[in-house]
Amino acid sequence: MKISSEASKALSPTQLGRLLAAETELDLESGPGDGADSWLIAGDWRLYARPRLAGAPAGKELERFHLPDGSTVAAILDEDQSRPWIPFDLDEAYLNYVSEAWRGGLAPQSLASWKLRAYYAAKPLIPRRVQIAARRAYTKRIRLPEFPAWPLDESVTRLLRFYAYCLLLAADEESLEFRWFWPANFRAAAILTHDVESAEGLRLAPELADLEEERGLRSSFNIVANWYPIDEGVLRELRERGFEIGLHGLRHDYSLFTTHDAFQRQLPQVEAAARAFEAVGFRSPSTHRVHDWLGELPLSYDCSVPHSDPLEPMPGGSCTLWPFFIGDLVEMPYTLPQDHTLFTVLGRKTAEDWLKQVDAIESRNGLIQCLSHPDPGYLGDPGKRAFYTELLDALAERPQLWKPLPRELADWWRRRDAVEPADDLSYGLIRREDDGPFATLEAPA
Ligand SMILES: [Zn+2]
Repeated sequence: MKISSEASKALSPTQLGRLLAAETELDLESGPGDGADSWLIAGDWRLYARPRLAGAPAGKELERFHLPDGSTVAAILDEDQSRPWIPFDLDEAYLNYVSEAWRGGLAPQSLASWKLRAYYAAKPLIPRRVQIAARRAYTKRIRLPEFPAWPLDESVTRLLRFYAYCLLLAADEESLEFRWFWPANFRAAAILTHDVESAEGLRLAPELADLEEERGLRSSFNIVANWYPIDEGVLRELRERGFEIGLHGLRHDYSLFTTHDAFQRQLPQVEAAARAFEAVGFRSPSTHRVHDWLGELPLSYDCSVPHSDPLEPMPGGSCTLWPFFIGDLVEMPYTLPQDHTLFTVLGRKTAEDWLKQVDAIESRNGLIQCLSHPDPGYLGDPGKRAFYTELLDALAERPQLWKPLPRELADWWRRRDAVEPADDLSYGLIRREDDGPFATLEAPA
């Protein structure tokens, strides 16, 4: 199923404008910079974009950004015209976060792709126990990167609030309405997703479904099409009980993403598998991804991109707590640390990290997305499952959280973006902070 952008025209021409979804004309002086791609740093906020080195007007300084070479550029409010002048393109900075193009500004910490291929070629030969020990040793050796922050990165939240502040200045308003992130007056959203790694994992899937259903929750189970025997009876049962089946690749390896040609050649198979499983959502095996290619997936949504995940074979992060568009595809970043990361790699013995992250995302009105696995070694183990149950309890007792299926969330994100307002749309407020340069985001009453 290919989603057509003709069907619904977007509210804003810019991606950042689509995230804020304010129905007000913008009058900002923001354009591509004349410098090379660079970090721009203000306090502990850093963004990646081409700085505008020339043309700054005289006026009141809103924020000063430091460049790695020691020079600075500033956002200026032109006193005569009351038009903020931004020393970089706001949309470019946003896209460089969510597309992970910021990697261009870092020394590569990710395994090079030839190493990944070698790893996957050898993986079936290495006992799982040894793989995990190697991963633990690797994790001890690396320090968590400075950027993106883990487990919570504030970058896009800051950029959005900065953009909203500049918009208010330009409109000469103290506050303005914008389309709230979630339907009605839900404060934040939460979705549960599982990647099924093995036939044994699929056999155990209904047990997780039981835990969720008892608490009024539903989730998606992402299946690998050609990797292990698939019990169609389990898929049918899950669907009938209101759970969602998604696609976790054709094979659980790197083969989909070796080259763009190989990727495109496999798309008909992806489409056929999705049709067979009645799936509209995708998560890439081991979250391998190439941002631009994801937009070509013949599906409604993808959830392969982390918010911030430095401990995967392909570390990185979109730095955002909200879905975004890649072409017509809705990308929904997973925002909680994975079960494997917390309980196996880091050896955590409580659900504390998850619960703290839920609080942090809810207070920022973002998307809580948990990625876990029903398989042995993951939530198939009783101890780890107990931590998951704690998370489910915490989610179930929060009526202020919207808890749809992932596919319903993707549909919502499209409706919110359409020119015609949806029935369940409500409006939040952006409000100028006194000292700036940020606006607050206020939920509908
Ligand atoms: Zn997987």
